[in-house]
Amino acid sequence: SMAIEEEKQTAANPFDEEAASAVVKELRASFVSGKTRSYQWRVSQLKGIVKLITKKEREIVDALRSDLSKPELESQVYEISMLNNSCKLAIKELKKWMKPEKVKTSIAVFPASAEIVSEPLGAILVISAWNYPFCTFIPDILCFPVLSLDPVVGAIASGNVVVLKPSELAPATSSLLAKLLDEYMDSSCIRVVEGAVAETSALLEQKWDKICYTGNGRVGRIVMASAAKHLTPVLLELGGKSPVIVDSGINLQVACRRIIVGKWGCNNGQACISPDYIITTKDFAPKLVDSLKQELENFYGKNQLESKDLSRIVNPHHFARLTKLLDEDKVSGKIVHGGETDKTNLRIAPTILLDVPQDSLIMSEEIFGPLLPILTVEKMEDSFDLINSGTKPLAAYLFTNKKKLKEHFVNTVSAGGLVVNDTTIHLAVPSLPFGGVGESGMGAYHGKFSFDAFSHKKAVVYRGFFGDASIRYPPYTKGKLRI
Ligand code: NAD
Repeated sequence: SMAIEEEKQTAANPFDEEAASAVVKELRASFVSGKTRSYQWRVSQLKGIVKLITKKEREIVDALRSDLSKPELESQVYEISMLNNSCKLAIKELKKWMKPEKVKTSIAVFPASAEIVSEPLGAILVISAWNYPFCTFIPDILCFPVLSLDPVVGAIASGNVVVLKPSELAPATSSLLAKLLDEYMDSSCIRVVEGAVAETSALLEQKWDKICYTGNGRVGRIVMASAAKHLTPVLLELGGKSPVIVDSGINLQVACRRIIVGKWGCNNGQACISPDYIITTKDFAPKLVDSLKQELENFYGKNQLESKDLSRIVNPHHFARLTKLLDEDKVSGKIVHGGETDKTNLRIAPTILLDVPQDSLIMSEEIFGPLLPILTVEKMEDSFDLINSGTKPLAAYLFTNKKKLKEHFVNTVSAGGLVVNDTTIHLAVPSLPFGGVGESGMGAYHGKFSFDAFSHKKAVVYRGFFGDASIRYPPYTKGKLRI
């Protein structure tokens, strides 16, 4: 009956191509008026976001709980405070970012001066995923940003008009975003369009100046193909199988805590840079498993399936997908920890699998959930070949004390980002670009990189009338050529 209700609603108020075109037209008119270019407008909108998250924190936490049973502290720390910091950084740095950058000129154009002017692109479409509907996260209180609203922060800071299409898979958060942005932001320039495939497709038919998509690679391809029709550039924040290499001779307790908080402490593994699988040596694997079990118990107690400190699986579809990975014949005997599931409450306990075959389902797709397989190799270096034989992941992690191994890792493993001796925290360093490579995405954002991602870097040269060398003008006489 809910489906019928929904259908009725859509029929009464369809967001089709015509509606999408009307929204874009309205926003473009605001852009052309020039209001989004001013420093004052940009700051006022960024302050609007800060105000919205400060005043409506309760509602945001409730929506996240309703969509994901996200633990309150996780919401507060990883979503709300991160976004807050992202806005505050942009507010603090904006004047500097907006300033044209003077650059050297060459002797060929002497005398002249040159600068790079950052200009807004125009109309931006942000399509976001459900896992961190407000923001991204970090598994530490180091504080930094980012999902639904973070690209919006970048788009506003660079002076664009923007449409945000939140994920329909987090419906409570989606409708809260629509309500709050309408209330706190300039709705002639910033809009939320709610909906699923039909609404997103209608939006994708329009001409945009940049599309920022966060989600899986299948839809990433659809977005890029639509963008190609208008030669629109894309920023694709996709996923992948992010590996963790664990060497022996390390502080194993600290390593395990950092792996656990990056995996299960981030939305119960439903995060784009969560560790997807571990690679270690055959000899070391039993020790690693014991230590992981011990620390899991310290964090989540004995009954981990019901721990209030873990998010649930987003919906029945993803629950079925994950349990299918566990049920595969090749894999079912490999569980060394967890494995319990609760279909009614969409819960899956933190689960570790040892020595799963590489051709198993669990190793052939991004897991995006609380399952963590461990692969074993003869020697550490083999793990680099193993990673590089697959598609490029969004992140890769290495735990080791060996200098040579670190160097080898940094020089040979290709991934969106790398961390040595921790997981996921590169996201919390605003001076680093965040983005994928190859199948994990293209383009990057965060901090100044967000500003740059939604700006055009316009090359400008200034000259006077003095020093007009006749050499570049015809007729090209022999005398001129000799010079
Ligand atoms: P999702 O199902 O919420 O989809 C993302 C968006 O795509 C939604 O807004 C949805 O409406 C839209 N969409 C779905 N089907 C579409 C279609 N046919 N045409 C047009 N639009 C369509 O999210 P998801 O893909 O399940 O998210 C999980 C994936 O996202 C994982 O692969 C994860 O690694 C990746 N991810 C990446 C990042 C990052 O920052 N790189 C962050 C979060 C998630």
